[in-house]
Amino acid sequence: MRIQRIRAYRVELPLHEGTYKWSGGKSVSVFDSTIVAVETDEGLVGHGEVCPLGPFYLPAYAAGARAGIAELGPHLIGEDPLQLGHLNQRMDAALQGHAYVKSAIDIACWDILGQATGQPVCILLGGRYGEDFVLYRAISQESPEAMARRVAGYRAEGYRRFQLKVGGEPLDDIERIRQVAAELKPGDRLVADANTGWLMHDALRVVRAVRDIDVYIEQPCKSYEECLTVRRHCDHPFVLDEVLDSMTPLLRGHADRAMDVVNIKISKFGGLTRARQARDLCVSLGIAMTIEDSWGGDITTAAIAHLAHSTPTDMLFTSTDFNSYVTVSTAEGAPQRQGGRMSASTAPGLGVTPRMDVLGKPVVVVE
Ligand code: MG
Repeated sequence: MRIQRIRAYRVELPLHEGTYKWSGGKSVSVFDSTIVAVETDEGLVGHGEVCPLGPFYLPAYAAGARAGIAELGPHLIGEDPLQLGHLNQRMDAALQGHAYVKSAIDIACWDILGQATGQPVCILLGGRYGEDFVLYRAISQESPEAMARRVAGYRAEGYRRFQLKVGGEPLDDIERIRQVAAELKPGDRLVADANTGWLMHDALRVVRAVRDIDVYIEQPCKSYEECLTVRRHCDHPFVLDEVLDSMTPLLRGHADRAMDVVNIKISKFGGLTRARQARDLCVSLGIAMTIEDSWGGDITTAAIAHLAHSTPTDMLFTSTDFNSYVTVSTAEGAPQRQGGRMSASTAPGLGVTPRMDVLGKPVVVVE
């Protein structure tokens, strides 16, 4: 089987809540997502999606994804999409870095592999663990009172895990954590995610002030070294996210005992192939994971669901259903959350069929 054509589509994804805000005053109102279709000479078409969290979160931006696909695409025409290892080597040889550009193409080829073998992607990634898996709800940064109200509302919808967007003024963040914690019931889990927003001295004040609260601290500061300093002064469970984007920092983090949980975003690692390698390493090392992506719609949510559902239940700390945050559906067959849980499709491949009326005309065509 050979790759014959690659198309990329641009889709805008507005939010039900209007705006999503996180550390340092960063926010997004309409996400700019790129959906990729990889077409083969045997008639199978696979789909993938990459949607950066704005241009100022990770070193990734939406127009860059499309420019990168136009750059990379010609090197992939004639390649076998079923040989994912070879394909990733080919992508790395043609384009240094730019993991997020490669992610949607890699996901689309997993979709093709699933369709070609008649298997859901989660089976190919290791198997399906349990009936469904647990989700968290991200709580956009607002006043402590507003965030507590949001948590109460999403709790009523069935979520039991909440990730607060902190990384603002330390005294405000302490109040955010305290007021939200007061809404929770036994068994709920709370994460305070600063998304690199604190300096070390502010992070140390916050973790000390909430020492009596059962809360996880996620990526307090920008660099690995700063996070490690906070970690060593903190007795909360500790999550690293932005600084872990490949196997080398993951192994360093493990050697330093720098984290208890790792956040694996598919596009940060460069696709399902590389995210699965990281997932399997974490399983071997006994490090629990949040499995998700930067953002996205139905196709990203499907890819997340297959990776999360194929992760041993006790190793999956939590996962995400981005398609319930956005107002536009880009594909039929995407997983839908039930309460605070979700399951991967049982159909071959990702199990999604793009809505071509929503995707419109391709903005990149390589053939
Ligand atoms: Mg995070």
